[in-house]
Amino acid sequence: KRFIVGLTGGIGSGKSTVTRLFNELGIPAVDADIVAREIVAKGSPLLAEIVDHFGPELLTAEHTLNRPLLRQLIFNDPAAKAWLNSVMHPAIRREMLSQLAALPAAPYVLLVAPLLLENKLHTLVDRVLVVDITEQNQLSRTLNRDAVNAGATPEQVRAIIASQISRAERLALADDIIDNNADIGGLDLANTPVEHQGNASSLQQQVQQLHQRYKALAQNV
Ligand code: ATP
Repeated sequence: KRFIVGLTGGIGSGKSTVTRLFNELGIPAVDADIVAREIVAKGSPLLAEIVDHFGPELLTAEHTLNRPLLRQLIFNDPAAKAWLNSVMHPAIRREMLSQLAALPAAPYVLLVAPLLLENKLHTLVDRVLVVDITEQNQLSRTLNRDAVNAGATPEQVRAIIASQISRAERLALADDIIDNNADIGGLDLANTPVEHQGNASSLQQQVQQLHQRYKALAQNV
């Protein structure tokens, strides 16, 4: 049985950034968001089931899922939302477990899931690792990142933060915490402004320390 570390954190906290640092140490990951998209990909049985239930307008001209319409359909309809969750959640869980089992050999593996705690996925993992930043940093980093593709407004980001578990609750459920508040100004140390290099290496050090701990824990299961 594999030793699974569940990596979570609010929007813009740095999950992808931290995942890349673990990847560099040879630790592979499964991303719950990607799995959730894959299981309803064009031609999938689950997409057919959703279209059967909600109607053919759920398919785009390209035969993919019309996500905006689905979001709209479940927005004010608790029964529709409950039905969707009842088919999606078990399928996501199954597919995540199968992808985790199929990852290349490694001392332990990561399950990266923004809603790990909200969706009770932490029952699947051996250890919960939270990437923590202040709400102020969540807001500014998400807006900064999404600005390139003319993304979200501050109101939209605030609404997403409010829809997720609170920072305090998340921290209370953590086994381990990475503090990602210090500004690294970029992950690639060679291209990091000199005033931020210390912060970048301290993030790397936090990951390195956890890496040692997880290798030791994984040996004892
Ligand atoms: P989401 O849940 O929205 O997918 P995430 O938790 O994966 O987000 P990232 O995409 O890793 O978060 O980080 C959000 C943004 O903040 C990115 O643009 C990233 O480059 C930047 N970032 C992450 N960590 C830091 C840091 N310590 N200092 C400065 N910028 C950072």
